[in-house]
Amino acid sequence: IAVYRAKSRKTGVSVYDDKWGHEASERLQLVQALGYAIDNDEIEIAMQPFVSVENGSLTGFEALARWHDNVRNVAISPGTFIPLAEESGLMPAMGRMILRKACQTLMKEVPESDLRVAVNISVMQLRQHDFVDDVVSTLAEANMPASRLELELTESVFAGDVLQIRQVLSTLRDLGVRISIDDFGTGYSSISYLRDFPLDTLKIDQSFVAGLRNGGEGLFSSIVSLAHGLKLSVIVEGVESRHDLDKVLSLGGEEIQGYFFARPIDSGKLGDWLEKHSSRPFSMKRRHLSVA
Ligand code: C2E
Ligand code: MG
Ligand code: MG
Ligand code: MG
Repeated sequence: IAVYRAKSRKTGVSVYDDKWGHEASERLQLVQALGYAIDNDEIEIAMQPFVSVENGSLTGFEALARWHDNVRNVAISPGTFIPLAEESGLMPAMGRMILRKACQTLMKEVPESDLRVAVNISVMQLRQHDFVDDVVSTLAEANMPASRLELELTESVFAGDVLQIRQVLSTLRDLGVRISIDDFGTGYSSISYLRDFPLDTLKIDQSFVAGLRNGGEGLFSSIVSLAHGLKLSVIVEGVESRHDLDKVLSLGGEEIQGYFFARPIDSGKLGDWLEKHSSRPFSMKRRHLSVA
């Protein structure tokens, strides 16, 4: 408990220390623990491979935030701590840490390649006046070409002050950074925004792959056509089984991410994983799909 008491250095979030643990809500305790974890560089990343549909080769990774609270010895899921960080103002500091670790991990494990890393970015990070500078200096520190970085944004970038955000994204894209829309199909996109924003990729949300398990082919292939019509490439998220893979291979998309190929790999274990898998492409041979 004592470790949470100091005022957080980087984040400036102040800590509540009267009658600790009795009156503080669970939520407040979590925010304090998260601020402590950020100050102490304890947010880690896991890397989940992207695989090319064309030839089964590895094309890159998505960096996914991981938090193991060492004080209580529990892992807290990103579905809990990402919204908490956004609501409590910790997201910019945490996002900078994740971006830095993602770039450094990529350059440590696969320096001489064009594999890329995709990093999830919250809208509030894009609204920080120094976001572009942060990206530029992080790339420089990691000695990483901008073309090896992809930023994953959700459709929430199409709400609110879209002009300012579009400007930030244009600047980044002019530098060579790739921009993708994550969880596509679950949010607020209007087709004109998809056309007018500087984008490279749509990531089809995993719910549409789940939909392929009962009749969602028409919808899925419409999304692929929409993306291709807008000259965007497609990453399909959430491919979990041989059946999902066969369906996706028959419907299109350029890259696949999902448990069928690999779960997110703790960054410390990525070197071992690469040794086992990277020289050997995954099989993209389609099995015959039964008509019944
Ligand atoms: P996301 O960006 O859509 O990431 C994909 C999520 O789907 C990850 O969950 C991943 O582990 C999971 N996943 C991958 N393949 C499969 C599959 O085949 N089946 C199923 N059922 N799930 C699969 P995770 O790591 O729990 O992250 C959840 C969400 O938290 C992410 O969704 C993203 O929205 C957010 N998140 C994670 N890291 C960050 C971060 O660094 N910054 C921000 N802003 N958000 C993050
Ligand atoms: Mg993502
Ligand atoms: Mg996603
Ligand atoms: Mg998702």
